[in-house]
Amino acid sequence: MKTIYSKTPLLKSYKLKEEKGLNVFYKMECHQPTGSFKIRGMENLCRHYLKKGQRKFIASSGGNAGFSMAYVGTKLGAEVKIIVPKSTSELMIAKIKNLGVEVEIYGKVWDETHEYALRQAEESGAIYVSPFDDALLWEGHASMIDECVKKMPQPSKIVLSVGGGGLLLGVLEGMRRNGWEDTEVIAVETFGAASFQKSIEKDEIITLPSITSIASSLGAKRIAVQAFEQAKEYKVTPFLVSDEDTVRAIFSFLDEYNILVEPACGASLAYPLLYSEKLNGQDTVLVIACGGVNTGFEQLMNYKFRFLD
Ligand SMILES: *Cc1c(COP(=O)(O)O)cnc(C)c1O
Repeated sequence: MKTIYSKTPLLKSYKLKEEKGLNVFYKMECHQPTGSFKIRGMENLCRHYLKKGQRKFIASSGGNAGFSMAYVGTKLGAEVKIIVPKSTSELMIAKIKNLGVEVEIYGKVWDETHEYALRQAEESGAIYVSPFDDALLWEGHASMIDECVKKMPQPSKIVLSVGGGGLLLGVLEGMRRNGWEDTEVIAVETFGAASFQKSIEKDEIITLPSITSIASSLGAKRIAVQAFEQAKEYKVTPFLVSDEDTVRAIFSFLDEYNILVEPACGASLAYPLLYSEKLNGQDTVLVIACGGVNTGFEQLMNYKFRFLD
């Protein structure tokens, strides 16, 4: 089947090999047509319901999830509406609208947007599309691991970012179906968006009072139940980085590959770049470069001014 998502390159970092003697592979999800891995899950979900004759979708995300749903839905001829919170950047609203998709702004915080979108979907008979909490998304995300398995030996560590836990669940599914279950997963968040780390620490799912990080795509106040449950079945280690770390990693990645990613992705990139003492030459590390298009030139300059000057 011809897919809308791309098979992305797997690149070995010469920089980390040269400078630190580390074997680090980047799975370049930043090369997806929508700039992030979200397209994999959204395509899987969208195709699933279209096959059943459902053509209407309502998503509640002003980030990469909404953007990918809009992109995939348009390509597949679905009727898509994206509801976004007031906090959504002009940049993202414009990107979604440019696809010819309807955008409605509702809610001060995402939780309000989510409730409203759920109600609208129910009333209009549309499928509600969660940004992270749906088994169809995880099944779609898992294809990135199928691709890695063909190109590299089993890694000792997989490094990924955690927002609501959809990427984590997709990678775990990919590891399961490819016999990579005993690889350790480093689940990275920023200090101001640590809903996963805090839940693991307290051994119960907690709700953060607010998000205080520039990594807006990691800003789920509460993780998916399955992310919490499955993290206990595998070797999943939470790890926290600062907003400044994410910015340093963004610039380093931009220099190495000429690619701009969001702080949400910078969080994972920061692990081998800035915490390389956690790794050694024996490790084979797979870093999911999850991407993200919610960072423009102006925002980048802002981050530079705020964190690096
Ligand atoms: C959505 C997203 C994440 C977090 O994924 P979850 O499935 O919410 O855990 C990380 N980085 C980027 C760029 C994203 O778009």
